[in-house]
Amino acid sequence: MKVKTRVAPSPTGDPHLGTAYVALFGLCYARHQGGDFILRIEDTDAARSSKESEQKIMASLRWLGIDWDEGPDVGGPNGPYRQSERLEIYSKYTQQLLDAGHAFRCFCTPDRLQEMRAEQMRRGETPRYDGRCLELVPDEVRSRDAEGVASVVRMIVPTEGSCTVRDELRGDIEIDWQQIDMQVLMKADGTPTYHLAVVVDDHLMEVTHIIRGEEWINSAPKHLLLYQYFGWHIPRLIHMPLLRNPDKSKLSKRKHPTSIGFYERMGFLPEAVLNYLGMLGWSMPDGEEKFSLAEMIEHFDINRISLGAPVFDVAKLRWLNGRWLRENLDSTQFADRISQWAYNRENLEKLIPLLQDRVEVFSDVAPMIAFFVEGMPVIQKESFDFKNTDQMQVKKILLFSLWCLEGHGQWQGEALKQLLNSLAGTMGLKIRDFLAPLFVAISGKPVSTPLFDSMAILGSDMTRARLRQALEILGGFSGKQQKKLEQEFKQLGTLS
Ligand code: GLU
Repeated sequence: MKVKTRVAPSPTGDPHLGTAYVALFGLCYARHQGGDFILRIEDTDAARSSKESEQKIMASLRWLGIDWDEGPDVGGPNGPYRQSERLEIYSKYTQQLLDAGHAFRCFCTPDRLQEMRAEQMRRGETPRYDGRCLELVPDEVRSRDAEGVASVVRMIVPTEGSCTVRDELRGDIEIDWQQIDMQVLMKADGTPTYHLAVVVDDHLMEVTHIIRGEEWINSAPKHLLLYQYFGWHIPRLIHMPLLRNPDKSKLSKRKHPTSIGFYERMGFLPEAVLNYLGMLGWSMPDGEEKFSLAEMIEHFDINRISLGAPVFDVAKLRWLNGRWLRENLDSTQFADRISQWAYNRENLEKLIPLLQDRVEVFSDVAPMIAFFVEGMPVIQKESFDFKNTDQMQVKKILLFSLWCLEGHGQWQGEALKQLLNSLAGTMGLKIRDFLAPLFVAISGKPVSTPLFDSMAILGSDMTRARLRQALEILGGFSGKQQKKLEQEFKQLGTLS
């Protein structure tokens, strides 16, 4: 059977390093054996998914040099490759489970479920569906349907014994069925949950090896049971250790730039980023840390995947990138790559309208545009001393702007202006006072080219990273303050 692996991102935000990391291992596994690699978009959560995020994920993976044989844009024999286009397939398989008695309709209201869970937690038990609707007879189901009561479909899960999950890296892992909930497979709105969709799709797309993050190990029993219910062959499971922040917590955007676009904007070479992701989980037989994708594919062997917690260390990535710059590019290639990156006519043409009215001689231009190409501007705490706002207010402006921008898709000057102007209004601040700290955080100076257009050119990853840097310089927030501010931000209403 032909080896097939896949990466299955949910398009709910910026392309994450973790997606590229898992994709890289899937790609190497498949290519080493002459197999195929699939990109599947898991977008059944309509409220959180966006086309924009999907486009960015695909562009970022391609920027890194990760390519797929089947996917939403390139097609393939077992499409569609976007879950939102496969809803009929999931309904059909849900019905099959219902007919075979492996799943049941559940009419419990969210209130009842919440009470049930609270009660179980009071008793020190793992919250788990208690099976009430399992007892409904077909007539009761019909009459509730006739009344139009909302329902979901849950899978039946044993209440005793344990499940053995075989992971190719870790061996057998025993998980008690008591720990596993009677998972909802189909939501009340007729869309599937991840657990149903992933099993159906991996089977229909003929995936032979599931390579994904280790956070899914605990879900594996549900998936194995579904394979068994359907009578399908179970793919092999390879759970990759999760990327970590230096403090060993899971790599998260609150602590670390996690979006691939940020590294592109910082001027890392895609070869080096990919090499670093590979190095975090795997080593070459000769121990050489610098290797290309082709070399990784050639020598790939899952036995050399390391199970230690891989810490994403930007300093190490910089070192590796330096090696790639020095050892792999002659001066012509260096010039080509740096102009491809930012020093090109297209970028200059975007900047000129922002600065033409503000300069007298060409040499005035360089200091003005420096902040578009530099990484993090060098700023001091004192740069944030303003007449009309105290430090807490300044930090709040930066934090609320950051949160607003996190959920904001339209990255054009006018849209950014509207968004932030309305935030200033809701916070009851004069626009001038509100914008002052943003100017400093983003450009490093109290005055610069027009802020919103500059942000649009810098892009969302870099803008947000600079806001985060400014907050860090100002000392950030305690956990308690952060909680309070989250509440306050929520109360500001519909901004994000
Ligand atoms: N959509 C899931 C995610 O984004 C995929 C998990 C899996 O690979 O099974 O993490």
